[in-house]
Amino acid sequence: MPAYFDHNATTPLHPAAREAWLRASEKHWHNPSSLYREAGFTSQAMESARERLGDLLAVEPERVVFTSGATESNNTLFAGLARCLPPDARVAISAIEHPSVREAARAWLGRARVVEIPVDAEGVVQPDVLKNVLVQQQPAFVSVMAANNESGVLQPWPVLLKLCREQGARFHSDVAQWVGKLNATALGTCDYLTGSGHKFGGPKGIGFLVLADEAEAFPLLHGGPQENSRRAGTENYPAIEAMVTALEALTPKLAEVQRVQTARRDAFAEQMKRDFPGLRVISEGAARLWNTVLMVMPQHSNLKWLTRLSRAGFAISTGSACSSGKEGSSVVVQALGASWEELRRVVRVSSGWETTEAEWKALAEAFVEAGKGLDAP
Ligand code: PMP
Repeated sequence: MPAYFDHNATTPLHPAAREAWLRASEKHWHNPSSLYREAGFTSQAMESARERLGDLLAVEPERVVFTSGATESNNTLFAGLARCLPPDARVAISAIEHPSVREAARAWLGRARVVEIPVDAEGVVQPDVLKNVLVQQQPAFVSVMAANNESGVLQPWPVLLKLCREQGARFHSDVAQWVGKLNATALGTCDYLTGSGHKFGGPKGIGFLVLADEAEAFPLLHGGPQENSRRAGTENYPAIEAMVTALEALTPKLAEVQRVQTARRDAFAEQMKRDFPGLRVISEGAARLWNTVLMVMPQHSNLKWLTRLSRAGFAISTGSACSSGKEGSSVVVQALGASWEELRRVVRVSSGWETTEAEWKALAEAFVEAGKGLDAP
């Protein structure tokens, strides 16, 4: 029974998104900026998709900018900050941000202006730690991801947001891993949000940036006046429609999915700990996404595990897709103070909305079989 356990890297297209994409591509393929009737219909359909996404995130649709994905959204945000903030203003980002936040912040603002907010032993930004950073470093802007792509750890972002408000700092959350897995409506209280459609059953190459203010213009791409002059380039309406449809399809089921999948994921982790004495689940004590287990295997390198499991038909990861292929480069595990030796043994498993109990069991059995092969002299 082959099964896909790398949903944090990307997800298969949701059937409703596929339908929506095909319909939009057949019916509304016209350039929304053109002036004839059909183009007007495409533009109207796109604005309706913006409103629907606005409803799902509880933000005014005027604040939503469609982009090619979270990487572009994060870069747009930091490039914009580099232009708008006073030259000596600092930004603070958590120690476990995705590279598209960490590297974008450093590249656009310069390393000296980027302050790191440490995480505790479970990978969580503690409010009093953020408070210290806010008081001592006085950052104008703070970025803390909602859910971590490697460990699945959820950050207490509502509390962090409140602290930022009290200290007059703007708050951004990279919600690429939260949206589509947990209810997104409360996220709208953040000043800025960034996300990617392919993380929740939408197509690749489409995402969003939510700005604090509808009048804010943060263009990274210059050229045409699309997206209210906030992102030049012909909009990809079929992909926009498919992304929003995927999220609409998943949202009503999320509470039930969370209940069912958490139990399956936890049963898998318990089985793994029984089968592999010494195995450690990272951030096990913290609130985490219902689909993610990041483990330090007691023996053998993660690439060896990945190769054996891949041969058996199971897709897993050595950490985020951006670092897989490079043994031991997991940022999260490093932030948690793991040794280099341990980093080489980190494996990430991330399930989907419909992963069955049988698939989880088959994965645990495949690990046991792979282990026998790896232990053989
Ligand atoms: N942020 C997070 C938390 C992610 O997990 C990812 C995807 N790995 C991104 C940003 C970047 O998304 P994309 O590759 O779609 O631009």
